[in-house]
Amino acid sequence: MAWSREETIGRDEMRQIQLGRLQKAVADVYGKNAVYRKWLDEAGVKPGDIKSLDDIRRLPFTTKQHIRDQYPFGLFSASMEDIVEFHATSGTTGKPVVVPYTRNDIELWTEVMARTCAAAGITKNDIVQNIYGYGLFTGGLGTHYGAIRVGATVVPMSGGNSQRQIMLMQDFGSTAVASTPSFLMHLHEVGEQMGVDFKKLKLKTGLFGAEPWSDSMRQAIQEKFGLKACDLYGLTEMIGPGVSFECHEVRDGLHINEDFFYPEVIHPESCESLPYGEEGELVLTTIGKEGMPLLRYRTRDITRLRHGVCPCGRTLVKMERISGRTDDMLIIRGVNFFPSQIEAIILKRQGVSPHYMVVVDRQGSMDEVEVRIEVTEEFMAKAGADVLKGSEKEILKDVQLARQKIENLKRDIKDLIGITAKVTLVPPGTVPRSEGKAKRVEDRRPKGIRTGRP
Ligand code: ADP
Ligand code: ZN
Repeated sequence: MAWSREETIGRDEMRQIQLGRLQKAVADVYGKNAVYRKWLDEAGVKPGDIKSLDDIRRLPFTTKQHIRDQYPFGLFSASMEDIVEFHATSGTTGKPVVVPYTRNDIELWTEVMARTCAAAGITKNDIVQNIYGYGLFTGGLGTHYGAIRVGATVVPMSGGNSQRQIMLMQDFGSTAVASTPSFLMHLHEVGEQMGVDFKKLKLKTGLFGAEPWSDSMRQAIQEKFGLKACDLYGLTEMIGPGVSFECHEVRDGLHINEDFFYPEVIHPESCESLPYGEEGELVLTTIGKEGMPLLRYRTRDITRLRHGVCPCGRTLVKMERISGRTDDMLIIRGVNFFPSQIEAIILKRQGVSPHYMVVVDRQGSMDEVEVRIEVTEEFMAKAGADVLKGSEKEILKDVQLARQKIENLKRDIKDLIGITAKVTLVPPGTVPRSEGKAKRVEDRRPKGIRTGRP
């Protein structure tokens, strides 16, 4: 059963709602935010020009860089006294994207996450173990608000603490779990060592997202835990989780909460709007948000849109599961980062050169990262000379120095992405060079859970 009426209304009514809210959104940013007013003036559009939904194409795009350039509060359309909560992207170094929520934004978020929970079959009879991180990350609180709204009992675990997660899952009899798919698979490995049979537990539903995951991953989770795994999608810039969700009945494509997030698909290079059914970059406009409404935000996520009534009864437009991204953002165990951030770390350290390669692989169900970094010619020459000299003391010193470098780099990377990466120092000239854009990433994970440019 759908949670709210808007999920099952006819096309005409939906378009009417969308047009009204789009007009208001454009008028709001124009009236309340000086930066947006300037952008709209430059594009030659006034709020009154939006007469039909197709007029959205006259609006300029907003990119992550646009938001970063206005860090921290430059794109807010609400005043601080009306803002009640902040969240931010996991954008690990440099400046994150800060998103403000007014009371009404929290209400909207609660509503779309209640729809998400209800569509996954979660009711007031459920105990939801929420493994998404609580804090600036949107996953934890978004799920929390939604699960409470449908009346479920939330266990606010946040991430980590595998053994404790498993113990409470058993003792409380959690019937639903919300987690990144990779972390749940990791829990399974830990549980196996503890001799736990997850199929005997009470879990029946799972809400999985925040990172790409394949259908074979879904199969594996369902079999190992004896639950139905539903996908949910979102991004901090829009609201966090709650942009779109799968219904447990069908689980073929995600229903977009299009009365709040107006979707378009564009060609990522020509930026031309693509018709329904064609694959391209998802562009979303918030229609109904107050804190930081965004017009035509380029998500960089690749998908296609589909109309039609779902067997579950919902009429909300569907998007296919994300098949990749147009940039080289990597998502490792749910954390986003760009390879260039590793570069910034390397540049700060002596004895290594900015020729590096990030190799991502999957061991079991966890992503493993190796960073290969070239040492400098200088470092190499000194070590080589010491070997030739046969001076044991000097050679040992070089080895120690190299070890120290590896440890320091490991620590820096851990601070950055929260993951212990393997760091390998390689001789100068051994990381492949490319003529055009450097190839910094070798993603060996199976297709479907990979992100980043192919
Ligand atoms: P979140 O808190 O939802 O992880 P972020 O802003 O940190 O939000 O990351 C958003 C990005 O995560 C999306 O643009 C998309 O690339 C990826 N993502 C989120 N959910 C999914 C999903 N269900 N499937 C694939 N990718 C996803
Ligand atoms: Zn459905």
